[in-house]
Amino acid sequence: PSLEFEQTRRLVDHGVQESWWFLADQLQQLRKKVESYPDLTSHIDQILEEGSDHTRVLQFDMSRLSQLDGLGTWREQEALDLSSVVQKRLHTLQNPHDCEKARKLVCNLNKGCGYGCQIHHVVYCLIVAYGSKRTLILKSRGWRYNKAGWEDVFQPLSDTCTDPSGYSHSHWPGSNETQVLDLPIIDTLSQRPPYLPLAIPRDISERLMRLHGDPAAWWVGQFLKYLLKLQPKTQEMLDNMSESLGFQRPIVGIHVRRTDKVGTEAAYHSINEYMAHVENYYTKLQLNNPTLTKRVYLASDDPTVITEAQKKFPEYTFIGDSNIAKTASVATRYTDASLKGIIADVHFLSLTDYLVCTFSSQVCRIAYEIMQSYHPDASSYFRSLDDIYYYGGQNAHNQKARFSHVPRRPDEMALNPRDVVGIAGNHWDGYSKGVNRRTNQNGLYPSYKMEEVVDIADFPSYTHTDK
Ligand code: GDP
Repeated sequence: PSLEFEQTRRLVDHGVQESWWFLADQLQQLRKKVESYPDLTSHIDQILEEGSDHTRVLQFDMSRLSQLDGLGTWREQEALDLSSVVQKRLHTLQNPHDCEKARKLVCNLNKGCGYGCQIHHVVYCLIVAYGSKRTLILKSRGWRYNKAGWEDVFQPLSDTCTDPSGYSHSHWPGSNETQVLDLPIIDTLSQRPPYLPLAIPRDISERLMRLHGDPAAWWVGQFLKYLLKLQPKTQEMLDNMSESLGFQRPIVGIHVRRTDKVGTEAAYHSINEYMAHVENYYTKLQLNNPTLTKRVYLASDDPTVITEAQKKFPEYTFIGDSNIAKTASVATRYTDASLKGIIADVHFLSLTDYLVCTFSSQVCRIAYEIMQSYHPDASSYFRSLDDIYYYGGQNAHNQKARFSHVPRRPDEMALNPRDVVGIAGNHWDGYSKGVNRRTNQNGLYPSYKMEEVVDIADFPSYTHTDK
C-alpha cells in the first residue's frame, strides 16, 4: 500500500473514534441539563448505548479492512524487516571492533526516580549513543533497584565493550575527537541534539510512517527491545509467574497508579473508570466470540485495588499479584525486593492485547512502547485516562490542521488549513488542547480535523551495517 493509503486509513480510524467521543460527551452534557425529565434521560441513555454499538461495529469492520488483500501479511513482514534493520544497527554500534579505540558515551543508572523513569533514562542514553555513533557504556553498580547492577537481571549492552576507559574524557557535548563522553540526564542536557524523542530517523521514516500509527513509540520500543534482554534467571522467573498466574490471551492490561502520584502528578481514577473501557473492549471482541473469558491483568502500587476489582466485577477473571503491589508501595519501592515485581508487571502489561491506564505514568508508557515490538502496529491498543503518549524531556509534539475551523465555543481556537498546533493533551471528548503556532492562541481545537506532524531528524548513516 502507499503511504497515503495507510495514513488515510488511520485517519478514518481516528475519525470514527473521535466523532463518537464527541457525540457521547455532548449527550452526557445534555443529559445533565434535562436531569429532571426521566423520559428524556432514558432516551439519551438509549442513544448512548446504541451509539457505542454502532461505533464498535464500524471499528470491527475498519480493523478487518486493515487486514484484507494481503495487507495484514505485508504489515507482519515489513515490521520484522524494519525491526531487524534497527536491531542490527544497535548490535554493531554496541560491539565495536576495537573497544580500546572506540568512541564511547557513558550513562549512569543513578537518576533519582522510579523504574520506568530510569529505564527511559537508559533509552535516552542509547538514542544519543546511536545519534552520535558512540558505543554506550552503562554504569549501574549500586542501582537503587538492584545493588548488583543491571547485569544481574538484564543482559549486558555489549558482548565485547563495557569498559568506560579511554585516552580522552569530557562531559557532553565535548567534541567529535573526545573518546569518552559523559552524558547528563535529559532534564539538564545543554546543546540538545535534534534527534531526541519524538524524532525518528530520516532514512527509515517513510517506511515507518507507512507501517505504524505512532512511529515515535515504535522507535522507542526498538531501543527497549535491544536493552531489555533478560538474563536466564529473570526469564525463568517470568515463565514461572506466567504459569502460576495463568496468564493467557485474550487479556486486557490495567495499570492503576496510586499512592504518591495521586494529587501530585496525576488525578485519582476509580476502578470503575478503567473497567468501563475494558468492558467496551470485550463487547467489541464478543461481536465475533460471544463466549470468551474476560481476563484482566491488573497491576498497581496499591494492593487493595485488585481485591476491590474482584469484588465489584465478578464476571471478570483478574490476574495479578497483590504481593507485588505491596513491594511497589512507597515504603519498599526502591529496594532490591521490589525490582522483580515491577519487571514482571511491565512485562505482563506489555503482553496484553489492550492497555487501560494513565499515560502520566512511565510504567504504562513503557509497557505501551514494548508492546509495539510485539505487533506490526499496536499504536491504537490502549486507552489512557489522562495524557496522550509522550516521552519525558521530548521535543515539541505538533499536529497540523487539515481543514479550517471557525470557533463554535468561547475556549476554541480558529484554524487555517496547514496551521501547526503544539498539542498539550487530548480531552477524549472530540477536543484537544494546545497552542496555534501561527496565532499563538491557546485553547481547544477539534481533534478530527488534525493530522500528526512526525518529527524526522537526520541521524548518522548506518547503511554499511544494513547489508
Ligand atoms: P511513574 O512515577 O508512575 O511515572 O513511574 P516510575 O516508574 O518512574 O515510578 C513509579 C514506581 O512505583 C515504579 O517504578 C515502581 O517501583 C512503583 N510502581 C508503580 N506502579 C506499579 C505497579 O503497577 N507495579 C509495580 N510492581 N510497581 C509499581
